Amino acid sequence: MGNKAFKFRIYPNKEQSAFLAKCFGCSRFVYNHFLRLTTDAYAQSKKSLRYKEWAKLLVHLKSEFEWLTEVNSQSLQQTLKDLESAFTRFFKKLGGFPNLKKRSHRQSFRVPQHFSIDENGFLKLPKMTPLRMVIHREILGTPKSVTISKTPSGKYYACIVTELDIAHAPLNGNKIGLDLGLKEFAIASNGEKFENPRYFHKSLRRLKIRQRRLSRKHKGSSNRKKSRLSVARIHEKVANQRQDYQHKISLKLTCENQAISVESLNIKGMVKNRKLVKQISDVAWGNFLTMLEYKGDIYGCEICYVDRFFPSSKRCSHCGYIKEDLTLSIREWECPECKKVWDRDINAALNLMFFSESKIPLEEGKFTPEQPVERLGITRSSG
Ligand SMILES: [Zn+2]
Repeated sequence: MGNKAFKFRIYPNKEQSAFLAKCFGCSRFVYNHFLRLTTDAYAQSKKSLRYKEWAKLLVHLKSEFEWLTEVNSQSLQQTLKDLESAFTRFFKKLGGFPNLKKRSHRQSFRVPQHFSIDENGFLKLPKMTPLRMVIHREILGTPKSVTISKTPSGKYYACIVTELDIAHAPLNGNKIGLDLGLKEFAIASNGEKFENPRYFHKSLRRLKIRQRRLSRKHKGSSNRKKSRLSVARIHEKVANQRQDYQHKISLKLTCENQAISVESLNIKGMVKNRKLVKQISDVAWGNFLTMLEYKGDIYGCEICYVDRFFPSSKRCSHCGYIKEDLTLSIREWECPECKKVWDRDINAALNLMFFSESKIPLEEGKFTPEQPVERLGITRSSG
């Protein structure tokens, strides 16, 4: 048994949109409230609060702010579980410190139980009338939870997670090292390179024009609202393109291999480099690692993190010689010890690979990929 997600667009009417706005608001309020509370508690008494404590305090919060009882209470508990996973990711060094949720960003809340889809395809959630949903593909398996979201440009979606049984992915024993970069998005130790499409960079000119237009509009005017929407749409498109590209690469890599070693990135530290900040947020490595991990879990591929202070670029992966004077501009070099000629990135990826040697899982993956990997149409960069 495994989980699979199916995402559909939903079209709430006026009254339903108002209620959903309330749900988003309550979920955001609870998330931010407990995030602040936890940070304050830790700062004052070094006490770290977790889900158990939060759930108890939520009861009191609901008697203080009665409007919280108007929405589904299970969704609020789910918000706390999401906050807990954000903290867990942070402590495992897989993500940044949890951020406060903003009204202007994507809004969401999850319904973990008591929802249904009727014969006309309407989605019934607790405490509200059925929502019109466009089911453009068959839902496989038993629905377990649904997440309702709203993008900054005003589109609503329902993401239904189901539990289903599929044939397991076979064991193949393949292992690679993966070097993430800016010139190329990723370089695998088997020599395969994936280009960096720089979607944000490509939309930058258009975005700048729209943003300039937006800044000239009067606050509160309907023209400003329209202008704000057009900016949000560009951001959304960039995010979708990036998401799509990363889904394809992560699917390919996790399906074809059983162990992948990557450098654990101190992304926050890297983003402090002001010259690179835009480029680094455009490649969105953190997002990519998250995908590798959950897909690895599904298809039976172990993701191994290598300490970022390990000299993966400077070490000759053949004999172990450390080339101290290797600078960023040297793309190719010859090892003075064993005379091997290295492509800088492939050598780094090979060094990373040695860490995955003993990490190949002995159990089959939970799924076989639905779609043949060759048909994904990923553009590989030449050379
Ligand atoms: Zn060497």
